Amino acid sequence: MTARIIDGNLIAAELRARVANEVARVQRDNGITPGLAVVLVGSDPASQVYVRSKHKQTQAAGMASFEHVLPGDVAQSELLALIARLNRDPAVHGILVQLPLPKSIDTETVIDAIDPAKDVDGLHPNNAGRLAGGFAALSPCTPLGCIILTKSVHASLEGMNAIVIGRSNLVGRPLLQLLLNENATVTIAHSRSRELKQLCARADLVYAAVGKPEMVRGDWIKPGATVIDVGINRLPGTDGKTRLVGDVAFAEAWQVAGAITPVPGGVGQMTVACLLVNTLRAACAIHGLPKPGV
Ligand code: NAP
Repeated sequence: MTARIIDGNLIAAELRARVANEVARVQRDNGITPGLAVVLVGSDPASQVYVRSKHKQTQAAGMASFEHVLPGDVAQSELLALIARLNRDPAVHGILVQLPLPKSIDTETVIDAIDPAKDVDGLHPNNAGRLAGGFAALSPCTPLGCIILTKSVHASLEGMNAIVIGRSNLVGRPLLQLLLNENATVTIAHSRSRELKQLCARADLVYAAVGKPEMVRGDWIKPGATVIDVGINRLPGTDGKTRLVGDVAFAEAWQVAGAITPVPGGVGQMTVACLLVNTLRAACAIHGLPKPGV
């Protein structure tokens, strides 16, 4: 039997529609339009594509979208001054600085400068610390999306064995915390982990966030497990173009798993949809409104 394909595009579209409904309600009842500011430094083509997509989807959800594009050689002080202005701007409820930043800029200093209440990327140490402590926090968007995708298969993750491969601040570490909050039993693996295949084979839930094309093979997967592939890797295609593959060897894993996300069409769209969720949640929290229904 082959695995059920988890349709991330569909689930993300449903989530965006629910966000749009809640945005309309908050506007109608409270006169507040949630606003997201995205800051792009430099002209990296992949980052430009992400920023354009965030802008379009923010507007489509009925939110205000503010785009700030700075040259790649901008002084760090100028970027920090922009963040300070956005922190004070009452029309802005979420601030996202597109990463990676040019080498001349210290990423940690920039993230630290964002008001934690507007930190919709969930990377500020206040939010990371709150999440690690089990307190309410703005959580990074990709791991949030992974949890929603998993819950489209399993109503409860309680007691399930999960493995997260990758321990980045953006994906692996917050995903570990979110899974703990769901009462899963979590193993987190990284480049120094031993016997990864054996660790994986015990897991009911497998999350691959490594950045190594098709590293997780079909014979690593426990039959019936749910596999969430976060990886986005670009490989040369046969036609001179490039093709996207994940961190999981999809064709192999699909034959063993119970459910699996494809790449593309899995986690990718969920990240932006969860950014909209975080912006709405931040706007409600800043204005002292109850948590929205998404
Ligand atoms: P990252 O910061 O480079 O972290 C990669 C992690 O993988 C590190 O913890 C590293 O371990 C671990 N690793 C590397 N080689 C390994 C190996 N052979 N065995 C086990 N673990 C290994 O990457 P990231 O930002 O978390 O992103 C991971 C992937 O997800 C990338 O492909 C990225 O493009 C993708 N991504 C997708 C989305 C989306 O929206 N779909 C969002 C974010 C990222 P060490 O800590 O020991 O170095």
